[in-house]
Amino acid sequence: MDVIRGIPVSPGVVIGRLAVVDDTRGRWVPRRVLGDDIDPAAEVERFEAAREASIEDLQEIHREATEQMGREAANVFLFHIGALNDKAILDPIRACITQERVGAEFAVADTLRKWSAKFAAHKDPAFRTKVNDLDDLGTRLLGHLSGAESGTLSFDGPTIVASRDLTPSQTAGFDRDTVLAFVTDLGGPTSHTAIVARALGLPAVVGLKTLTLTAVDGDTVIVDGHRGTVILNPDEPTLQRYEASKKAVESYRLGLREVAGLPSVTKDGVGIELLGNIEFADEIKTVLEMGGHGVGLYRTEFLYLTNNTEPTEEDHYEAYAACVKQLDGRPLTIRTVDLGADKYTQARAHAPERNPFLGLRSIRYCLQNLPLFITQLRALLRASAHGPMKIMFPLVSSVHEFRQAKHILNDVMEDLHEAGIPFDESVAVGMMVETPAAAVMIDAFARDVDFFSIGTNDLVQYTLAVDRTNERVAHLYQPLHPAVVKLIRDVSRAGRRRERPVSCCGEAAADPAIAHLLIGLGLRTLSVTASSIPPLKRLVRAVTVADCERTAREALSFDSEIEAAAYVRDRARRLAPEAFEGRLED
Ligand code: PEP
Ligand code: MG
Repeated sequence: MDVIRGIPVSPGVVIGRLAVVDDTRGRWVPRRVLGDDIDPAAEVERFEAAREASIEDLQEIHREATEQMGREAANVFLFHIGALNDKAILDPIRACITQERVGAEFAVADTLRKWSAKFAAHKDPAFRTKVNDLDDLGTRLLGHLSGAESGTLSFDGPTIVASRDLTPSQTAGFDRDTVLAFVTDLGGPTSHTAIVARALGLPAVVGLKTLTLTAVDGDTVIVDGHRGTVILNPDEPTLQRYEASKKAVESYRLGLREVAGLPSVTKDGVGIELLGNIEFADEIKTVLEMGGHGVGLYRTEFLYLTNNTEPTEEDHYEAYAACVKQLDGRPLTIRTVDLGADKYTQARAHAPERNPFLGLRSIRYCLQNLPLFITQLRALLRASAHGPMKIMFPLVSSVHEFRQAKHILNDVMEDLHEAGIPFDESVAVGMMVETPAAAVMIDAFARDVDFFSIGTNDLVQYTLAVDRTNERVAHLYQPLHPAVVKLIRDVSRAGRRRERPVSCCGEAAADPAIAHLLIGLGLRTLSVTASSIPPLKRLVRAVTVADCERTAREALSFDSEIEAAAYVRDRARRLAPEAFEGRLED
C-alpha cells in the first residue's frame, strides 16, 4: 500500500481500477506496463509492424506528393521515411520496450517527445521546424499501433484516470460512463481542469508529482478528493474504512440539499444572493436544485473546449437561449470567451507562448480575433431578447481595453438594429476584476462599467505572482493574503460609492470561511460551483452581517497571510459550525 499526498481539487471518494495514460500534444497514449505474461519481444514486433505500415503509407504519400507538388516539396516525406529507418530513433524505442517493459505506444511517444525537445531547442530554425514532422510521425505510428489517436478517452469499465497533466478540454471530454475520478502529477487548486472536475462532480486530486511513474496500469486505487490523498493498492482494513466513508459523504451531501429551498438571508435579515458558476448550459438544473438563485458566471469558452470545430453563431445562440429559457427570469451573467492561458489556444498553437498566463488570453485574445468575438456578441445580444442577461468581459486590465470591447459591442448592436433583429438595448455590461491593475483603478472603471465581478482565481495569481496551475507554488496561493483582501475591500467600497454592484465569482467564495469574510467586506452576491451553494447557504443563515464585518476589520489588521487565514478560518467555524459539518478536508 502506498499513500501519496497531493492537492484536493474536487471532493468525493472513489475506489477503482487505475488507467495510466499519457498525452503527447493532444494524443492519448496508454502507459501500459507489460505484465509478466507478455514477452517484450512480441511488443517490439508490434512496433516493427506499425513502422513498416507507416513506411508503406509514406512511400505512397511521397509518390502522390511528387506528382502534385513537385520533387522539392515532397521531400519532407523522405525525412519521415528516413526517421523511421534511423537507428537514433529506433534503438531508444526498442530499448524502452524491452528494458522498461512498457507498451509500444508509450515507447514511441516518449522517444519522439525527447527528440522533439532536442529539435525545439536547436539554434538552427530548420531543425526547429522538424518538431511538427516528428509530431506527424508520432500520430501515424500510434494510429497503426492502436488507433490511440483520439481526443476523448473512454474505457471498457469503470476507471480512475492517472495522467501527468490534463487540459480542461480533455477533462470535459471524459466519457462520464466510465471515468470515475482522475489524478494528475501536475496542477493547482484553481486551474480550469480542477474547476471542470468540480463542475462534473468528478473527484480529483492533482499535484501528485511523480504518481504516474510509480503507479501501474490496473492497480486498485482509492482517490480521496476531500483530503487530497491517493492510496495505491490499499490493504483490506483501509478499503473497508473508505467504503464506510464513501457512505458518510453521500449522506452528508443529501443532508446539504435540505437547505436548498430555504432563503439565503443572514440572521439579521440581509439577503445574500447565491448564484452558480457554470461551464455548460445543462448545469443550470443542478444550480437550481442546489438552491442557487441564478447564474453569476457562465464560462462560455467551454463551447470551444468540447468541440473539434469552432462554434458558429447559431451554436452560441442556442447555448445562451437555452440558459435564458431554463432560468426563466432569474439572473444570468454570461462572460465572453476567456480563451488562452490554460484553455485551448496553447494546445493548438504551432508556436505556444512562453508565458501564456501573461500572454494573449481572455479579452486580449478576443480583441485580436474580431470575427470570433463579433460572432459571440451577435449571439449574446440575440439571446438577450428572450430574458434577463448581463454581459461580462474577462481579464480587463485597462479602461481603454474595456472601452474597445464596449465599442465593438455597440457596433454589433447597430448592425442588429439595422437588420431588424431584436435584442435588449439596455443590456448591462460589466467586467471581471482579475488583475491588480483593475482593482487599483476601480474608480476609473466605474464610470464606464455597469457591474463588477471579482475573479479571485486570477486576482490571487496576479497579485501574488503565483501560477494557479503550478503545484510547486500551490502553498503560496493564498486568497487570504492581506494584499488580496485589501484589493477586494477597495473594489467593494468603490462599488458601493459609485453604485455599481460587485460580486465575487472566484473559487475562494466557495469556501465558507472566505465567504463570510467577503460578506464582511461588503459583498452581497457570491457565485460558486453548484455543489458549494448548500454549505454557503448554511453559513449565511448562521451569521449576522455585523459578525462578518468584525471578521473583516480584524483580518485587515494582520500583516501575515498565515495569521489572517488562521483567524478567519477559526472565527468562521465558531460563528457557523454547521457550514463546516461533514467536511472531510481538514
Ligand atoms: C477567476 O479568475 O476567478 C474566474 C472566475 O475566472 P476563471 O476561473 O475562468 O479564470
Ligand atoms: Mg479568471
